[in-house]
Amino acid sequence: MQLKDYIATIENYPTEGIIFRDISPLMADGNAYNYAVTEIVQYARDKEIDVIVGPEARGFIVGCPVAFALGVGFAPVRKPGKLPREVISADYEKEYGTDTLTMHADSIKPGQRVLIVDDLLATGGTVKATIEMVERLGGIVVGCAFFIELDALKGREKLGDYDYKVLMHY
Ligand code: IMP
Repeated sequence: MQLKDYIATIENYPTEGIIFRDISPLMADGNAYNYAVTEIVQYARDKEIDVIVGPEARGFIVGCPVAFALGVGFAPVRKPGKLPREVISADYEKEYGTDTLTMHADSIKPGQRVLIVDDLLATGGTVKATIEMVERLGGIVVGCAFFIELDALKGREKLGDYDYKVLMHY
């Protein structure tokens, strides 16, 4: 299947000069969505994953069906103020200034094997902050998976030696 046929490209969104890759046509097509999620499930199958971790909001769209298919749990990563119980947080660099992500402090148990999933890898700031939180909670990051990587933004460099899987490159 040509998954790129299901990615919309929007120029100058959300701001002038940005080319936004939109996965919503892929999500809207049952076969394409199933195909893309299944690719990540196959990548994850032999990794003995205990928990899938995904950042809001599109990390839920990718990560929850993967967790369901593997029969494992899902732990959300959210912006500050969204999770109701004790959280840990990590800051990361954005183009202008910093941003913060949070996770429930009990969402990963020490020694659990974690797969981090999101729709898209850009500069890698989101996934790096997520890895930092998972590891602070004692989790083992055994891989990261994305539908899309924006190669020019060099997020791969932030991933270092972590194993990762990408379905489409732009
Ligand atoms: P990073 O932290 O720079 O790697 O940005 C990745 C995060 O920003 C992911 O959670 C994506 O959902 C979001 N993101 C950045 N650029 C795009 C895009 O072009 N399309 C969809 N999401 C994007």
